[in-house]
Amino acid sequence: MRGRFRVFDTHTHIGTALHSGRQYSADQLLRAMDRAGIDRSLVIPFPVVADARAAHDEIGRAVQAHPDRLSGVVCLNPFLPRAEFLDEVRRAVETYGFRALKLQPQYQPLNPLWRTSDFFFETALEHRLPIICHTGSGIPYSLPALMMDPARRYPDLKIVLAHCGGGLLVGEAIVAADFCPNIYLELSSLMPNHVLEVMHRVPSSRLMIGSDLAENLDVEIGKIEGLAVNDEDKRRVLWETGCAVFGG
Ligand SMILES: [Zn+2]
Repeated sequence: MRGRFRVFDTHTHIGTALHSGRQYSADQLLRAMDRAGIDRSLVIPFPVVADARAAHDEIGRAVQAHPDRLSGVVCLNPFLPRAEFLDEVRRAVETYGFRALKLQPQYQPLNPLWRTSDFFFETALEHRLPIICHTGSGIPYSLPALMMDPARRYPDLKIVLAHCGGGLLVGEAIVAADFCPNIYLELSSLMPNHVLEVMHRVPSSRLMIGSDLAENLDVEIGKIEGLAVNDEDKRRVLWETGCAVFGG
């Protein structure tokens, strides 16, 4: 609870990132959540790890120890041998109850327009997992508009555009959400004026917050708290949309 709002951070990471060298534990995350007044966090593996299965296990153990605070997300190289990919998604869902499937196109160049990528979306649907797709850095496959194609072809699939195009592509993310009712926007890294632009066009029932990294928590939440919008919209962005998409 932060002030009068509960808060669901729908985008954060623990583990060891090979690309950046960052190392962050579940205990560090929980302490940061307590400091910032975060009720729940959705925990995603870093996109480049030495062992994706071990990364899922680390998050899974934290979820099992703190089911009231944490939920997990599957993030896996989509170019693994297909059976290995499918087995690990199933294992993470069945063992730890993971709630979403992450695509990080900056490091996992899956083209959503190619039919060879359909297995990715169909796997998410089979396990009733929303997809979280990083957008912004990592062009071309991180362009928000590319997700409009699977969103149209799989209307029962919820697709969350992480970072909402990352500032530069915020307009494209707005158009994607405007045209596709199953596209949701996660607002981390936007400036407050961008968030207002988004809220002018996309209902708050499809907007959610994320921090990406715990040191961003106060800024990411503060920018929503400080907006000149009504409390109902703030409540949806800070808490309700995340619960509706990923489960509370
Ligand atoms: Zn991230």
